[in-house]
Amino acid sequence: MVVEFLGTGTSHGIPVVGCSCPVCHSQDPKDQRYRASLLVRGNTGECCVIDTGPEFRLQAVRAGIGHLDAVFLTHAHADHLHGLDDVRPLSVHTPLKVFGNRPTIHELTERFSYIFRETQIGGGKPRIIPTVLGPEWPEHAEQHTRETPEASVSIGSLRFTPLPVYHGRLHILGWLVEEAGRRCAYLTDVSQIPKETLLLLAQLDILIIGALRKRPHPTHFSFDQALDIINLVRPRQAYLTHLCHDYSHTAICDYLLERDFSQDYIAPAYDGLHLMLE
Ligand SMILES: [Zn+2]
Ligand SMILES: [Zn+2]
Ligand SMILES: [Zn+2]
Repeated sequence: MVVEFLGTGTSHGIPVVGCSCPVCHSQDPKDQRYRASLLVRGNTGECCVIDTGPEFRLQAVRAGIGHLDAVFLTHAHADHLHGLDDVRPLSVHTPLKVFGNRPTIHELTERFSYIFRETQIGGGKPRIIPTVLGPEWPEHAEQHTRETPEASVSIGSLRFTPLPVYHGRLHILGWLVEEAGRRCAYLTDVSQIPKETLLLLAQLDILIIGALRKRPHPTHFSFDQALDIINLVRPRQAYLTHLCHDYSHTAICDYLLERDFSQDYIAPAYDGLHLMLE
């Protein structure tokens, strides 16, 4: 598989509207970050995205996405979901499955209620099939309906397994993507990882993890908290994403060197970065 970072910025993106800080005015293209999203291409032509943030259209055009087989959502915050309408041209021929945990799918159907209502002929809407995936948390018991969701799903030769994590008090998902024995985990907007999920992070080729900034934050890992998880999980390589404008790409690289991490092992991600897992 090949994974490509469609966006690596925090909820504001970088540059932040109206901000005059040096990072928002940096000339380094690596300091220009769309909202966080990942493209996953399988070995036999599969194409999936994790999250559809507000820049999804620009990201899809830039990455040359010609078709999409599925969308996987981490959670329903605006910076991860609000570009969903722009899957419209990619769902004309076949409705697109959109996977998420139960609260995320519930929010999606409220936020994008027009998609599921009868509207006038000619009114273009994306054709999507919201699909609950992953284990239920006890707190969601009242939302239980019908069937128990599947534990994972295959899209061609790619296998996606939900990774339940905490984003502050929210129960959200990361995603483990596997193909031909290669394993990549994507965990953004995380502030705590349950034991059961840590077990699923063994023997990763790549761990992509949200690390907002150096200062602590109530609902996101800081750099040091993300580095602690990387030390615990020991993937072959790790990348930091969902980065805010406190530090430039270069300043984050310098900080990692200061902490004695080689750039081959841990690096900040940047928009457009491709990783091959063969
Ligand atoms: Zn976010
Ligand atoms: Zn700024
Ligand atoms: Zn969030």
